[in-house]
This record gives sequence, C-alpha cells and structure tokens, in this order.
Amino acid sequence: MPPLKVLFVASEVAPFRKTGGLADVAGALPKALRRRGLDVRVVMPLYAGIKWGDLEPLDGMLNVPMYGGPLRAGVRLGRLPGSDVPIYFIEYHRFFDRPYLYGPPGQAYLDNLERFTLLSRGALELCKALAFIPDVVHANDWQTALIPAYINTVEWARPLHASASVFTIHNLAYQGNFDGGSMFITGLGPEHYNPGEFEHFGDVNLMKGAIAHSTMLSTVSPTYGREIQTPAYGFGLDGVLAARGTELRGILNGIDFDEWNPTADPLLPAGFDADHPIGKAACKAALQKEVGLPVRPGTPLFGVIGRLTPQKGLDVLAYALDLLLKWDMQLVLLGSGDSEAERFFAALSYRRGDKFRAFIGFDDGLAHRIEAGADFFLMPSRFEPCGLNQMYSLRYGTLPIVRATGGLIDTVQNYDEKHGTGTGFMFEDLTVAGLTNTVGWALSTYFNRPLHIEGMRRSAMAQDFSWSRAAAAYERMYHEAYTRRRGHSFAA
Ligand code: ADP
Repeated sequence: MPPLKVLFVASEVAPFRKTGGLADVAGALPKALRRRGLDVRVVMPLYAGIKWGDLEPLDGMLNVPMYGGPLRAGVRLGRLPGSDVPIYFIEYHRFFDRPYLYGPPGQAYLDNLERFTLLSRGALELCKALAFIPDVVHANDWQTALIPAYINTVEWARPLHASASVFTIHNLAYQGNFDGGSMFITGLGPEHYNPGEFEHFGDVNLMKGAIAHSTMLSTVSPTYGREIQTPAYGFGLDGVLAARGTELRGILNGIDFDEWNPTADPLLPAGFDADHPIGKAACKAALQKEVGLPVRPGTPLFGVIGRLTPQKGLDVLAYALDLLLKWDMQLVLLGSGDSEAERFFAALSYRRGDKFRAFIGFDDGLAHRIEAGADFFLMPSRFEPCGLNQMYSLRYGTLPIVRATGGLIDTVQNYDEKHGTGTGFMFEDLTVAGLTNTVGWALSTYFNRPLHIEGMRRSAMAQDFSWSRAAAAYERMYHEAYTRRRGHSFAA
C-alpha cells in the first residue's frame, strides 16, 4: 500500500526562518511523520536570509492565479536537515526578499494578504506541477488559512478536491484580519464574504474561513483546544470553534531532542543529565559570568525567554520585579518585542545589574545557556497555546514556574509539598501577588527543601515530550480527515 501523502504548508520552518513556535513545529513534525513512513512534503516562502545556493532550483515556473492575473513564481528544493523530507521554497522576490517575515517590529507589511495568498495558492499549484496529489493538505495559522477554502472552491471537481484539509491553530491571537474591501485579493468571490466563512465584524478574517472550510482542525495542546471554545480565550472565534468542536483535536507539540539535549548541546559550556548534575552547576556559573551577574552558586537563578508581547504576561513580571529584586535571587531575561517593554527591561537591567540582566534581541545560543544554567524558568503567560520553553526547561532540569493556562497545564505538574512530587510551580491568577507568592514558594523550597528540588529536577528531566508521540496523534487525525473527506478509510 502506498504511504499516506501529506503536503505541509507553513510560513516559517526551522532552521530556515523562525519567529516563533510555529517554525519549530514545522521543522520537526514532518520529520517525525516521515519516520512513521508517511510521504510528507513541506512548502514555505523563500525569504531573505535563506541560503539559496544550497537549494536546487526546479525547472519551469509556477503560474499562480492571483486577482490581477497569474504571477510567475520559481521553486527551489531542499531537504529538512537530517532527513530526506523535501521542502519546496516558493521564490517570488518582490514579496519575500525582505528583512522581516511579516513586517518590522510592531507592524505588518501592507501587502501581507497578497503575499500569503501567493504562498497558499502557490502551494496547491506546486502539487499540480509535481503531480503530487496529497491525501491530506496540512495548513498552519492564518498565513496558509486560505488553503482549505481553495480546495473546496477553485479546485472544485479537480484532483485536489479529493484532498482532505487539516488546519492547525498555533496561536489564535493572530487571525489574519484584513479590511473587508480586500476580499478580492484572495481570488475568492464576494459570495464567500459572509459571517459563515470569511467575514468577521466587517473584516476579512482568514482563520475564520479556515475554521469553516477545513475537514479537521487542531491546536497545539489539549487544554488550549478546550479553552479556545470559550469566550475568555476564543478571541471572538469561540463560537465558530465550538460549533466545530467534534472535529477539533488538541495535540501537544513535541520538542526536538537533538537540538535540546543537555548531554550533548554544543551551545553549552558543559553537558549534564539527571545522574550527573555537576555539569549543570558549571552551566550556572558560566551563565552568571556571561550575563554579568555575580557568580554565586547558592543564589537561585531565574530565567525568562520569550517574545515581549502581552501574551507572555511579562507586564505583570515588570510590576513584580520591585519586590522580587529585594529577595536573594537573580534573574536573566532574553526577549524582544514591544518597544515599551524592551526599554523598561533594558533600563532596569542598567540600574539593577547586581540582580537583573536583560538581553534584548534574538539569541539562540543564549537561550540554550539560560535554559541550562538557570534553576527556575518563569513563564507567567496570559494564554499559552502550547509553549515550548517550559518543555526545554524541564528537559534541562530547570523547574518552570508557570501560570495555569493552555499547554502549560498539560506539561507542568504542580509541586506537591507533602510528597515532594511535581515538576514545577503553578499559579492561577495573573497578578503581582499570584506571581510573587509562587516565586516565593519556589525560593522557600529551594532553600528549605533542597531534596525536593533535586527530586523534581529528576522527574522534570525524565518527561517524554518526543515528536514521535505527537506524530502518531497527527497521523491518526490525518486518517480521520481522510475518511471524512472520502467516505471510506485510507486502507480501504
Ligand atoms: P511562542 O511561539 O509563543 O513565541 P514558544 O515558547 O512556543 O513561544 O516558542 C518560542 C520559541 O522561540 C522557543 O524556541 C524559544 O526558545 C524561542 N525564542 C523566543 N524568543 C527568543 C529570543 N529572544 N532569543 C532566542 N530564542 C527565543
């Protein structure tokens, strides 16, 4: 029997270009699916910064139908590193050869709808050019949200119409909202601009269209899958998501065990594992030195890494720091995003460099060294679809302190003081009191119950967040989608 054929389309794929967790998923999941025997191929845009020379230019051009007539796009072929998974890059310099993926910090490129229409429609044209008719097309986030609608409309009664579509929501906060008047850019007629498809309070909402058109839907953790069907987390789409609740799955992301491996991480000064924790102490000392904090083995060191956006709850941390920095602890923060937040943390780092250091920017090496060298990792997210950083922390024996939301609930086990069990510390209320009380709880455990900390570290490092587990769940969902689309199972 031939393997299930899957086309996986994403606007960012690690290690080629990355702004967030979506790229990590898109770089790792297809490889894990391939290991399960699926014929999976990936499509992304050819951005500036991708080493074009290493890619094989394919003969011919794609003629991608756009509102103003066909655009001719090139295609380059590469492989996901460490695998034979093909990745096709859609080459159209006027749209993608730019310094940023979606726009400068805090802004969006004005032609984003056109850019990602080209990606979405181009991915389907590529299938036809390659004579690769997927059983399942897997689209991700708003940038590829037009794909399920194209399969149901412009591909109607053509070979791709038989393909099932799966749409994964990595972050519901970004829905792809555009002015209502721009519907024509998608190439779909005005009949699709209605509240059951793309219209949402006078705007074009790409995710809403994908929710209506996909054969099946998923998001990146079971808890977030339930949360987004409620007004508190649904960002206005809770109603349409709840209406499709039976086709919505929550599949926890995995992490890349090769990239995040404390025993053999080339970015660390020393390796360690649960049985040989000595290397972790070396990582802590080296980190304190690197970031310019006093090298003190006995002072608990907290790490924070992430985008400085309201999602991550770091505004509450900002208020809490007044109190936290009075305590015997150190904190290192790495992040970029909102300029007000950047300025605040940078200024505080200047004033309170004895205990707090902030690094504004994106630095993969430092991210690894913080995950390895810190004792605790702070993640007070307002909402969190899955979250990767807390999983990296667990693997590096750095106990996460998280707000009880989304994927954080699914990955961190709260400390049980009576039995000394758990893998981290959790709080419900995103308030200064909620955060500082929980940091205080972690500190008192660190100083007064060191054996509990040691036991928690051991359990944390033993957690299995492998992609093979996640890939098995995606494969099951693909089969479900296939059956819904075709009316018979894949094997039949
Ligand atoms: P999100 O996708 O919401 O940004 P996740 O925790 O799911 O959050 O994933 C974020 C990814 O980006 C992780 O791999 C994290 O290490 C990385 N990351 C975020 N900000 C930075 C930064 N400033 N420097 C290095 N890595 C970062």
